[in-house]
Amino acid sequence: MHEFFDEKETLTGKDREEYFNRRVAAMAAQGYERSSALRKIFDERGVRPDDIRTVDDLQKLPVISRSGLIELQMQDPPFGGFSDTKADIDRIFTSPGPVYEPHLSPDDPLWARAYQAAGFRRGDIVLNAFSYHMVAAGLTFHGGLRHVGATVVPSGSSGTQQQVQLIRDLKVTGYTGTPSFLMSIIDKAAEMGHDFARDFSVKRASFGAEPLQPSMRRLFEEEYGIDTYQMYGATEVGDIAYECREKNGWHICEEVIVEIVDPETGRNLPEGELGEVVVTRLNSVFFLLRFATGDLSSFMPGSCPCGRASRMLSGIAGRLGDAVKIRGMFVAPSQLKRLSLLFDGLRFQLVVTRSGHRDHLAARLETSATGDALRELTSRFDTAFREICTVKIDSIDPVPAGTLGDDVPSMVDQRSWK
Ligand SMILES: [Zn+2]
Repeated sequence: MHEFFDEKETLTGKDREEYFNRRVAAMAAQGYERSSALRKIFDERGVRPDDIRTVDDLQKLPVISRSGLIELQMQDPPFGGFSDTKADIDRIFTSPGPVYEPHLSPDDPLWARAYQAAGFRRGDIVLNAFSYHMVAAGLTFHGGLRHVGATVVPSGSSGTQQQVQLIRDLKVTGYTGTPSFLMSIIDKAAEMGHDFARDFSVKRASFGAEPLQPSMRRLFEEEYGIDTYQMYGATEVGDIAYECREKNGWHICEEVIVEIVDPETGRNLPEGELGEVVVTRLNSVFFLLRFATGDLSSFMPGSCPCGRASRMLSGIAGRLGDAVKIRGMFVAPSQLKRLSLLFDGLRFQLVVTRSGHRDHLAARLETSATGDALRELTSRFDTAFREICTVKIDSIDPVPAGTLGDDVPSMVDQRSWK
């Protein structure tokens, strides 16, 4: 059922390493010839194309943020000098900024790995509720579905009533789009007098563009019998990672190199540490090396039981701007939410201060427990926090129930950098 998209997904050890090294070296050499922007970056740093021979060598180059890309594209429209203007570009997408993104050809298997892993196949009729208008989403997801043989209904941004009608009339078996839009469709169906689970055949959904909350996932799977999958990408670089049937971490696509980077130094971080997702898409048209997505994630240890050998991301912990760095480690709001769920909605607040040259992290827990029960709770919290956030708490203080209301922030940064 869940066979692989191609043999690259099971490439291991030296073979895998050599495949990526070879491709990154080829892209650097080709890019130096064809992209004026890349040539400038290399020359300014005194890096020669043959200095980039391995994936690790990418660290010799700077990361390029979204705002940096927009600026370069304004200076040198339309592609900021990152694209070979003589290439056979199939289509040009735009995203807010604006950023202009040249795409190679519909043969490119963008998103196909994600749909394959989610079990979409020939015979499926899939509602594609991603927008087709100007942005890369609709057409590239469409292409991915076609690569695994599914039939696509390009419903795009049509209203929920029309989506329900399509699901009913065309006996749609799958959905791709955002989770919240599927929920609106389900609500609309109920309003129109349908029982979504009983009357319709939607059995599978692949979500992108927004996080799938665990509670919503449970609802889709348990109430409506829809097998759900997440996929992750960025409009500038295409598909990046996806869930397999294990639904425990995201496999990195075989056409991209993902680095987890310390945004301050541009250097790679070790496994398990939260950092910025930096992506290089291996291709011969758009020579955007080391694109910094602004998303936070970490590499997961170990290998996946599904048999795919690619490295895995732990999911997206949030945006760089929303996270707080404590003793060099990012702590993101989503991690705190996980912690709260783990403790049945326990209210807590973290306070970061600076004492001497060290960050001090205090936690306030809302509890009425005392004695052994309190000691047990603080000890469990301490351990769970270190596991989820990889940072150690310095002190834990109980506060009476009602101290931390809904509008009290779960993280307060009182450090002054003056
Ligand atoms: Zn897997």
